[in-house]
Amino acid sequence: MRVAVGLVLCMLLASIPISSAQSDTKEDEAWPGDPIDSHVHMTWAALTLEVNGWADDYPEIVDLADVGKSELGKSLWVVRISDWSIENKSDGSAKEVVYIDGGHHGNEYLGTALAWLSAKWYINGWAEGNQEAIDVLQNTVLHILIMLNPDGNDIDTRWNINQVDLNRNYDHYWNTCPTTQPGSSAFSESETAANSAYMNAEVADADLYVTMHTGVWIMLYPWGKWPEQPADWELYHQIRDDVNDNISSIPIQNANQGLYPNCGTSRDYGYGVMGYPTFTFETDDEQFVPGSFENLNDRLGEEMDVMRFLINNVWYWRARLDVQSLEVSDDEVTIEVANHGHASTSNATLQYLDSNGQIKWTSSAFTVNATNSTMVALDTSGLDSSEDGSWQMYYQVRVINASRWVAEEIDVQAITLVAEDEASFLTGFGLFNSLTTIISIIGLAVVMKPEDEDLANNCLAEIQEN
Ligand SMILES: [Zn+2]
Repeated sequence: MRVAVGLVLCMLLASIPISSAQSDTKEDEAWPGDPIDSHVHMTWAALTLEVNGWADDYPEIVDLADVGKSELGKSLWVVRISDWSIENKSDGSAKEVVYIDGGHHGNEYLGTALAWLSAKWYINGWAEGNQEAIDVLQNTVLHILIMLNPDGNDIDTRWNINQVDLNRNYDHYWNTCPTTQPGSSAFSESETAANSAYMNAEVADADLYVTMHTGVWIMLYPWGKWPEQPADWELYHQIRDDVNDNISSIPIQNANQGLYPNCGTSRDYGYGVMGYPTFTFETDDEQFVPGSFENLNDRLGEEMDVMRFLINNVWYWRARLDVQSLEVSDDEVTIEVANHGHASTSNATLQYLDSNGQIKWTSSAFTVNATNSTMVALDTSGLDSSEDGSWQMYYQVRVINASRWVAEEIDVQAITLVAEDEASFLTGFGLFNSLTTIISIIGLAVVMKPEDEDLANNCLAEIQEN
């Protein structure tokens, strides 16, 4: 079994296109675990050796952080992976942030394995010159907490050492569903407290959070608490349709409907409190019977394909407002706003700032739907734009209340002042000028599958028309 599983993971990792020499041995790439009761098991000690080895071997892309202790004092390791020689993206903006964790439930080894594999795929890919991995690490910081419950992991149990279900211990409608063993209070356990502290301190700006489990073959999005679709249903449904059409037929559902009602989970906390787009990856572990390793290979590989899609396209998992034109007249300001992202925003406002950067005027709120363009006429009562000020968009990156706010300056070229007797309609480009947008779309086309190219071409055509 050890040989079989090692071979499977080697096959999977070997599927990365390689431009330089093959790695020395397959042993190096194998999941460093042992089979226990037909599960693949890696101890916390083995993981500790492994992740420290990554940090030693690849300091240019791997930064290892000890972000807290389990109840028994074992370090919770976060592997941070990015091209550290580059601080920002080529357009000067901050790198995208992705957060992944695995191993909430200590006996769900394949969830831990998939988190491990997500890190290993990018490390190996970068080392071997894989362009997709290089592009991702130049534009993204991946934060991966591979094993959240090392105490439970090492004794092969769902619970932590206090017999608490860590994935019911988060401070989001804690203990409000029929559930077992949620702990004495929200964040009563050191593991969940450390995870939420990390989310708030280090990855508050993440535009993707994936938490990895096993049980059934399904991907779950919020809510677990309610059967209703989440506020950002457009984003989730678009991801579901793209994945199902192009990558995998894995069912993708609201957790409450797809699985069963559950509360106090890291997924609902990640969305409802942190405002991330969140998914629970569930891999069924029925295939852990001797001789069925091809199935394991296929399924892990398929989930890695989905992970890569989610990571490659993280730029889209929020609203991205781009003011195409802004016209100021006596009593009205009219703006044309495009949304390049796949999430809607419902609380957008236009703001005028004086030359000291003080906000002097805020418009009424308006909505911009996902992947849409909107003309908005806003009443300018109270606005004195005579002085030498500037304009910005202020909005939430997703619809969920918890999602973060951004203030983005509007490019001066987009602004036209319409004098009373004069109608001069200059056009200009907003936040992203045409060149950067085209470049980003070309970059996107590189990582997109062929089926997605129409989308990029359409976008390109749209920009060129403008
Ligand atoms: Zn689980």
